Amino acid sequence: MKKSFVFLLIVGCVVFFLTQIIGWSCSVSGAGNNFVTDNIPVTDSIKLVFVGDVMGHGNQIKGAWRDGGDSCYNYAPGFEGMKDYISSADLAIANLEVTFAGEPYTGYPAFSSPHSMAVALQDMGIDMLVTANNHMMDRGRKGLESTIDVLDSLGIPHTGTFKDSVAWKAGHPLIMEKNNFRLAFLNYTYGTNMAMAKLPNRINYTDTVRIAADLAKARALNPDYIITYIHWGEEYHHKENATQRRLAAFLAKNGCNLIVGAHPHVVQPIVKIPGNAIDSVGSVDSVLVAYSLGNFISNQRWRYSDGGIALEVTLTRTEGVVSLLSHNYEPFWVHRYPEKNVQVYRIIPVNTYLSNPERYSISDENKKLMMQFYNDTKDIIKQ
Ligand SMILES: [Zn+2]
Repeated sequence: MKKSFVFLLIVGCVVFFLTQIIGWSCSVSGAGNNFVTDNIPVTDSIKLVFVGDVMGHGNQIKGAWRDGGDSCYNYAPGFEGMKDYISSADLAIANLEVTFAGEPYTGYPAFSSPHSMAVALQDMGIDMLVTANNHMMDRGRKGLESTIDVLDSLGIPHTGTFKDSVAWKAGHPLIMEKNNFRLAFLNYTYGTNMAMAKLPNRINYTDTVRIAADLAKARALNPDYIITYIHWGEEYHHKENATQRRLAAFLAKNGCNLIVGAHPHVVQPIVKIPGNAIDSVGSVDSVLVAYSLGNFISNQRWRYSDGGIALEVTLTRTEGVVSLLSHNYEPFWVHRYPEKNVQVYRIIPVNTYLSNPERYSISDENKKLMMQFYNDTKDIIKQ
């Protein structure tokens, strides 16, 4: 009698604890990933990664041919080192600073790269390209339009240049939706080298009257966050100039939530400036400005231009308001070395290198150059 009572007591305790554990598990799994209790609202998040100028100098075209076994142009090996990082983003965005105008393939001053470069960018994890920059008219109307055709054929969303006003109205701002976020992208350039675009083609040139109207249009599309990627500044200057500061303040005052810059071919500071969220788009506290991300890939082999940074931005939504949770940067360096007398290019994320240097085959001289870039970048950004 006594024994059976103890046995029943043990069984009862086991059943009680089991029901508690099962009940607890069910309430967690049934609640969804981010839901904690009724009192705390659902919080979404999204990780954005931006990189700078994707260049295509003459030697890079030769290098891609070598990487294609001298039978096709293959850019994938050059991007391979960045693939894990770029593809870890929910949205990765780059500035395409070459045209896909077809043959002859040429470097500076009139860039036309094989369109396999776009395939490799997409394969690395780039989800969207901006195209308003000073090289988009390098091969005239044909170059502008065939670049758009290549991106459309691959299904890569893009903004900044347009074949006509119908496309301009539809893709400017470009709305991207991911992880329950609705993001509006605007893209501008100070100018184009060879000629201005002529109608029906359109390029978004920097014009504050136009920009204010565009930002109003962006807000009316009811996005969570407005992002402007802008081509500006002075080449090879490590500090932003007064025009960049004025324009950044103008964008922020008119409701832009995040500003990303390119063109100087060197890294410039990342700062926060006062924000002004109009119509409740984004949070009101401040606007992050990355003045220049430097080169993503190029044949510019001198100090400061032989690498760049990826800007990483995490946005969250709390109680319906979208704000910047955190930002960071990832420095990378373009390793160039000869392979059968042709230069090939490999992007190396420097922090990844530092965590496992044995994995990389790189000369002492190149290591020195890479670390110089790394330290220069830290000094410029100071964060
Ligand atoms: Zn440029």
